[in-house]
Amino acid sequence: MRVFRELYDIRPPHNVLCDESYLDSFSKYGTKTLVANSLKEFIGDKMKLYITSCSLHSSHNFHGVLPRGFTLATCSHVPAISGSDCVEQRIRSKLVKQNLILATADSVLFHTLRMLPGLPIVRRIGDQFHLKGPSDDERQQARIKKEQELAHLNG
Ligand SMILES: [Zn+2]
Repeated sequence: MRVFRELYDIRPPHNVLCDESYLDSFSKYGTKTLVANSLKEFIGDKMKLYITSCSLHSSHNFHGVLPRGFTLATCSHVPAISGSDCVEQRIRSKLVKQNLILATADSVLFHTLRMLPGLPIVRRIGDQFHLKGPSDDERQQARIKKEQELAHLNG
C-alpha cells in the first residue's frame, strides 16, 4: 500500500508487530491462516509478522503456540507480563525494527500509542481493518521537512 510510504515514509518489506488482541480478534476456529492472511491482504505489500513471547502467552486463542506465518519476537520478561505492556515497552524503548507497523484490536493500547509520531497502527474493529492516519502535527512536520529538503536542493 502506497499510503504507508506517503504518510509515514516507510516501505516494504514491513515489519508488522501484532499483539494478542489482534490474534484473539478472530474466532477460535479457522484462525490458523486467517490471522496472517487477512493482514497481508489489507496491507498488500511484502511483510514479516511478529508477535512477542508475552503476547503469545497472553493469547486465549493461541496460548503459546506460534500461529503459522508468524515469527517470535523474543523478550526478556520472565515471567511473562501482559502482552500489551510488552508491546508498549518494546515500542517506547525503540527496540523495534525499521518499517514497523503495529497491528492491534486493543482500544486501550491503540489510544496509548496513537500519539507516537511515525507509528502506523492497523487497528482491527469487528471484521474491519482501519489505518491510523498521521496527526495534524505529523503532517505539518512532514510538510516542513519536505520544504526544507526542496530549499536545500534549490539552494
Ligand atoms: Zn515481553
